[in-house]
Amino acid sequence: MREMDDRIKILSDMIAASSRIVAFTGAGISAESGIPTYRGEGGMWNRYDPNIYVNIDYFMRDPSYYWSLFHDVRYDVLRKARPNAAHAALARLEKRGKLTAVITQNIDGLHQLAGSRNVLELHGSTRKIYCLNCGARYTIDDVHELLKKSNPPPCPNCGGMLRPDVVFFGESLPEDTLARATEESENCDLMLAIGSSLVVYPAAWLPQRAKESGARLAIINRGSTPLDSIADVVISASAGEALNAVVPGGPDS
Ligand code: NAD
Repeated sequence: MREMDDRIKILSDMIAASSRIVAFTGAGISAESGIPTYRGEGGMWNRYDPNIYVNIDYFMRDPSYYWSLFHDVRYDVLRKARPNAAHAALARLEKRGKLTAVITQNIDGLHQLAGSRNVLELHGSTRKIYCLNCGARYTIDDVHELLKKSNPPPCPNCGGMLRPDVVFFGESLPEDTLARATEESENCDLMLAIGSSLVVYPAAWLPQRAKESGARLAIINRGSTPLDSIADVVISASAGEALNAVVPGGPDS
């Protein structure tokens, strides 16, 4: 326990000494909001096959598998999920002028709901849905209603095929977002990697890039990551507890 307190103190001091902090977040930061991670205990990949669920070739051939899972499981999870203490702590850091960006692999939109403004979504957002034919945009509530009548859901505007604005396996990351995320990573003085197994590339390359560019690297994650050996501090704890301890709330929060 003493060792954990020491690490919390080390990270608190690093935050105090930094002025351009960037957070890189993964599924673990949203676990305490009730959104299952992909890997690890309770992970989605233990129950669903990623080769089918988020594979672009499969989706284009048969979108109904994705939409059934969305209708039966994901919609309710997304609708009920609220930002937790970890999302709130990052929003506080940005408000205090210390954090310049949140780069996230998550597709749940919880950083924005917590009040973070500069959020770079590397893998898009499941909350946004658009028509591949006419470009009309829809919310998850719209599509949930459409799914009550038909799966796959046709675009109400033109009858075209709808898809979520997420990056499927087999697709590239949005170029502009990746370029901005790379720039933020290269220019930060402290990179906080939170709740990510840091195994999904090219996204997980960014914390490494920050370290190579001279920033300090702090990792908060339950479970080890391939970058632990190059990090300046590793905190193996829940994201909410750790971030609450290093970014205490205050009159400005
Ligand atoms: P991952 O599932 O590979 O790793 C999550 C990590 O978080 C694991 O190491 C796990 O031990 C750790 N963890 C679990 N609960 C935690 C907690 N309370 N506090 C701290 N750490 C905790 O996730 P990843 O690295 O983000 O993998 C990337 C892929 O997962 C991305 O493509 C992303 O789009 C997708 N994903 C997103 C969501 C979401 O939007 N919330 C959910 C599942 C998966």
